[in-house]
Amino acid sequence: MNIENQNFLDSERWQGRAFFADWQATAAGVIDVTDPATGAVIASVGIGGAADMARAAVEARGAQKAWARTLPTDRARILSKAADLLGQNGAELIPWIMRESGSIYPKAAIEIEHGALFIRHAASLATAPMGKMIPTMDGRTNYAKRVPHGVVGVISPFNFPLVLSIRSIAAALAFGNSVVHKPDPRTPISGGIIIARIFEEAGLPRGVLQVVPGGAEAGEAMCTDPNIAMISFTGSARGGSKVAGLAGKHLKKVQLELGGKNSLIVLDDADLDIAASNSAWGAFLHQGQICMATGLILAHEKIADALTERLVAKASRLPAGDPSTNQVALGPIISDAQVATIQAIVDDAVSKGAGLLTGGTHDGRYYAATVLADVTPGMRAFDEEIFGPVACIATFKTEDEAIALTNGSDYGLAAGVISSNTARALRIADELDVGMVHVNDQTVNGGPFAPFGGPRKSGNGARIGGPADIEEFTTWKWISVKDAATPYPF
Ligand code: NAD
Repeated sequence: MNIENQNFLDSERWQGRAFFADWQATAAGVIDVTDPATGAVIASVGIGGAADMARAAVEARGAQKAWARTLPTDRARILSKAADLLGQNGAELIPWIMRESGSIYPKAAIEIEHGALFIRHAASLATAPMGKMIPTMDGRTNYAKRVPHGVVGVISPFNFPLVLSIRSIAAALAFGNSVVHKPDPRTPISGGIIIARIFEEAGLPRGVLQVVPGGAEAGEAMCTDPNIAMISFTGSARGGSKVAGLAGKHLKKVQLELGGKNSLIVLDDADLDIAASNSAWGAFLHQGQICMATGLILAHEKIADALTERLVAKASRLPAGDPSTNQVALGPIISDAQVATIQAIVDDAVSKGAGLLTGGTHDGRYYAATVLADVTPGMRAFDEEIFGPVACIATFKTEDEAIALTNGSDYGLAAGVISSNTARALRIADELDVGMVHVNDQTVNGGPFAPFGGPRKSGNGARIGGPADIEEFTTWKWISVKDAATPYPF
């Protein structure tokens, strides 16, 4: 896909730079951005170190109060304009997402579509009612209003870089917060530069958004920075735990959106062709590098063989290759280290008795769509998030067993239940200790209107999207008003 056409992105502005109040060099220098499919360098950006994050936080804090004072309609107008720009320039931006994160075209197109929707949702939040009248105990007037935290630090991952950055940034901005954003250094363009460009063109006041790509060190600096009031983190449980520790120590609000090991429960009355299609989509989309990926297919023992056969037939036909030059279903895995992790998890399962029915091999970064059968607790493939294209099938005898297997997971992000009996599926859905359940669908479902997130290693009780945004990105302020001051006993 062509990344030469740059009417909008205009790399002259940002090559080798980051977005402080405008495009400037970072103290920590420059990094190359590479295409994971080919290793080719596609751009360079400024990389942030601790000093750069501190500088960004000072700029953002300096701009926040004036931004919070703008009319809600003005904030909504700027957000709507940013959404328009993202949508209008999708054809130019999609190739960048494909090249940088190894996406197939439809996945990159979803990022543009959902990204614009998240911003439009945020625009609507800007003009939502923002308070409550509170009962009085002594005749005074009491009200409580939702106010911005101040500066929100956003830290995002590589896998859906555009959407997962925008969903935090847009919601934070809508309520009058300013933002310091640190995209993953492997995907700084889709996760950062594009977002800075659309808000720059949409007329966001100078300083309100800072975009500085960086690694763990830069992220940790944000968590301890006195000018940053809240951290909105999307990433691994390991990273989230570190962020929570640092931010907690510095008494910041922390929103953690972490990993998943998501069950798709297929009951014995399911349509097996549909269930196999759902399983393949949930397990293999974006090479399984999705927090909501179907990490376990829990198949009723009566239909497990027939489902497995259908899934293997699908998986063995899914081509892997460079999405920018070929019609493929699977692109590259983000790094060689991640390929090695996937292989180690598959090898562990096979060594402990799982059946490797297709795949289990890779050609460089292209990992074949893989199906493992008879996956059981104690295998890494059962217990851990893989972040690779590996469908893991386990069987159950009773609905209670399927529920127990799901609820026994360290993670609690999403689940799906497929059955021709919706009431039966709903009864199971009600028993699952996860944040999101999809009846008659696989586990990969997201969007701007629903509260997204889950318990245990999937997060810290926070949610993002829909009604959760006001809870997360604002806090209460109580104002009480007496007509005149009155005396006290002292
Ligand atoms: P990661 O935790 O290594 O990195 C995510 C981001 O955090 C990156 O920007 C990284 O630079 C930063 N980071 C890493 N260590 C940090 C630290 N100590 N302090 C501050 N920042 C730090 O995650 P990853 O492996 O790159 O991404 C995949 C993970 O993200 C998976 O576990 C996946 O399930 C999860 N994820 C969750 C969601 C969700 O919404 N729940 C969405 C997408 C991905």
